[in-house]
Amino acid sequence: IWHQCLEVLRDEFPAQQFNTWLRPLQSDHREGQLMLFAPNRFVMDWVNEKYLRRIEEVLKDLLGGQAPRVNMKVGSAPKPGDSSEPAAEPVRKAVPVRPALTEESVSVTEEEKGVAATVAEPKVKPKVEDRRSVQVEGDIKHQSFLNEGFTFETFVEGKSNQLARAASMQVAENPGGAYNPLFLYGGVGLGKTHLMHAIGNEIVRRNPGAKVAYLRSERFVADMVKALQLNAINEFKRYYRSVDALLIDDIQFFARKERSQEEFFHTFNALLEGGQQVIVTCDRFPKEIVDMEERLKSRFGWGLTVMVEPPELETRVAILMKKAEQANVRLSSEAAFFIAQKIRSNVRELEGALRLVIANAHFTGSEITPPFIRESLKDLLALHEKQVSIDNIQRTVAEYYKIKVADLLSKRRTRTVTRPRQVAMSLAKELTNHSLPEIGDAFGGRDHTTVLHACKKIVELQETDPNIREDYQNFMRLLTT
Ligand code: ADP
Ligand code: MG
Repeated sequence: IWHQCLEVLRDEFPAQQFNTWLRPLQSDHREGQLMLFAPNRFVMDWVNEKYLRRIEEVLKDLLGGQAPRVNMKVGSAPKPGDSSEPAAEPVRKAVPVRPALTEESVSVTEEEKGVAATVAEPKVKPKVEDRRSVQVEGDIKHQSFLNEGFTFETFVEGKSNQLARAASMQVAENPGGAYNPLFLYGGVGLGKTHLMHAIGNEIVRRNPGAKVAYLRSERFVADMVKALQLNAINEFKRYYRSVDALLIDDIQFFARKERSQEEFFHTFNALLEGGQQVIVTCDRFPKEIVDMEERLKSRFGWGLTVMVEPPELETRVAILMKKAEQANVRLSSEAAFFIAQKIRSNVRELEGALRLVIANAHFTGSEITPPFIRESLKDLLALHEKQVSIDNIQRTVAEYYKIKVADLLSKRRTRTVTRPRQVAMSLAKELTNHSLPEIGDAFGGRDHTTVLHACKKIVELQETDPNIREDYQNFMRLLTT
């Protein structure tokens, strides 16, 4: 029943709200009572305050008189068939029994007790016994430094990032506290890395002795592989487990790296157990990371998961003003507004555009006015506005899926061609100014309702099927840049 209720709520609330507050809830429905489990207090209080009434109404709509009472607590739902009291977990700590170690995994506890650790020999490890040396330390402690420019002061707050910023601030003030781990997600160039560094910088500012490790997930993987080769996996583990805060950026690159996920999972647990802070960023919601272990994904949800959204116009203007100020350049609000209206995708591009305008102004000694900006950004804007033809879309899609353009236009209805055909039609609607009947015509004389159906289908699939979403984003990139 909770599933059905969620489906209704999904349509009612913006994706960000839904993903942040409603989606992480787990349910247990028995004896006329629906218990909802929130990953932490913050979420519980918020849902209680903002969504509970609506949840109850939806349940009533769905079930009429049979609607269950709804209660909430912090923790996770008992597994089906588990008759015991649902385990209400305290917000942090309490990492359950370490899962059985697989052949490749490494036992940690002995090491932590000071007993020699047992390390299952990884297959990649060269047979060199005594390579462990001081130099190893340097190799595995590949700590990237925090970027001092990425602070809370330089981060412009707006509707799109308000929650993420607030949560980050909380974590910085109270690392290892209630929001552990903190999972920040959202598209590229929206400020995830900036926020992550801001947290790290703030932790160090408040406590200069704090050990903060920031690294991109690829780095974690590379370091681990190196440690394995140098037979220094214990140093590796000891190092990462000794930090006060571990910041891993762009966790999506862990996908398919099983051994790294395994190692990270253990590190992760050890840190949470020790009350050390873990912060992770990702380009998508945890459940949607393909090829990532379930237990790792669900562990991400234990703390707080917040999305960073693309900035709306006011925030883009504010960011431009701030960046101009940092560069010691006078930017009128009219000019900032003009740029912000043209560049909508993300903050990184916004910064790039501003840099271009400023450089041009320096060279020519001109004032930054809307006509001047238009001229400076001519090429950039042309790119953004690049016209895409249906022809081009069909060729790109066919090539991508390794089918023929003729298949897209044909009457064939096998899965291998219908899906690409729908994707192509939907792209044509989104990227060209052609009408539905025109698009239908261009696809072998199909009816406009077929095109409409395809567009709806693709929107829906992007919600439910990560592969389609990824394909679609790839196409947008391929076709518009
Ligand atoms: P992401 O990690 O989400 O891809 P970044 O954190 O690297 O994005 O941000 C891209 C650029 O945009 C950085 O230079 C960052 O300083 C800037 N930026 C993003 N959001 C903001 C913001 N709200 N205020 C100021 N600068 C921002
Ligand atoms: Mg980043």
